[in-house]
Amino acid sequence: MRITTIHATPLLLAFREPYYWAGRCDLDAVAVLVEVRTDEGVSGYAEVTGGYPPVAIDAALQEIGTVLIGLSPLDIAGSLREVHHLYGLTQAGNFANLIVGAVEMALWDIMGKALDQPVYRLLGGACRGEVDYFAFVHGRDAEELAEDAREAVAAGYSVVYMKVGRGESEDMENVAAVRDVIGDRRLRLDANGAWDVRDAIYMIRRLAIYEPDWIEQPAHTKSIAALKHVKESVPVPVAADDLIYSLFDVYEICRQRAADVLVLSPHETGGLAPFRKAAGIAEAAGIAINLHGRFVTGVTDMALHYAALTIPNLTEGNQIMHQILREDIISAPDITPRSGRLGMYDAPGLGFQLDDEAVGRAAELYSRSVTTGT
Ligand SMILES: [Mg+2]
Repeated sequence: MRITTIHATPLLLAFREPYYWAGRCDLDAVAVLVEVRTDEGVSGYAEVTGGYPPVAIDAALQEIGTVLIGLSPLDIAGSLREVHHLYGLTQAGNFANLIVGAVEMALWDIMGKALDQPVYRLLGGACRGEVDYFAFVHGRDAEELAEDAREAVAAGYSVVYMKVGRGESEDMENVAAVRDVIGDRRLRLDANGAWDVRDAIYMIRRLAIYEPDWIEQPAHTKSIAALKHVKESVPVPVAADDLIYSLFDVYEICRQRAADVLVLSPHETGGLAPFRKAAGIAEAAGIAINLHGRFVTGVTDMALHYAALTIPNLTEGNQIMHQILREDIISAPDITPRSGRLGMYDAPGLGFQLDDEAVGRAAELYSRSVTTGT
């Protein structure tokens, strides 16, 4: 079996409701569906997200194609080494890892389909029967957040996640409202790097009365030193998120004890295999991994779920994001968590069935947004 083409389809993913987070409100996001085709008719799928222009992503994918086409999709490590040589980009950083990671995941999808095995088995097998996910509560104000929180409690979630960094009085009011609704369930707060060190320490000390399970990326997203400074100054566990893009970052954060938890996904690390290596580094440091969600579809959530089944040092309340979309692009399986959990699936590859019509609609939405500039 040989790789023949890499095909990119830009998608516009409309959200169910406005998405409020540190300093922003988004109505939709762009993702690029990646299809790696082979000469035996088996295709693998994954996606690139992260806000980079689809035209740049497509150009990078076509360049990667110049070394991948003709190679076996079953020799993933060797193929990816060629890709990294192409750019001199081994563990290079955000943009490269997002794209290489999607190609890597598509290759695992091909291998799983070719061997008729779910990818988690090819990665060494599941070490857990299910993965626990959080309820993501969001809204314009405390009232809307509390409404989401009530739904989360009714649906049986044990971990609730929300954004902070929206302004001091707003944060205090929003977190109080959600804590009031969820009782003693775990509450995760994510600042997405909205604060500087001084504000982060001040805000976390104030928010500590609501007993957050942890605060995610409170300080600058490029600075391990800033994160460590905050972690050592506050009475609440701190998670690293938006600053991890390589195994070196993972090692350095663990070595410096700059975070209590790593929020991470195969996109940041450049694929499923490096993601498992990253989890291994953290495991040796006694630090757990929490799955990182981006603006993704069920394609990515299934890839992450299959990877998570193989990770021993995984937290509860992992991030899952497809539910914020008005329409997902997979038709199966149903990945709505039950009481916050998803179990085992046996479907080969990454386990999802693409909904071709939904892909077409999202691609059409993207084309129209480019044409009209909306
Ligand atoms: Mg985060």
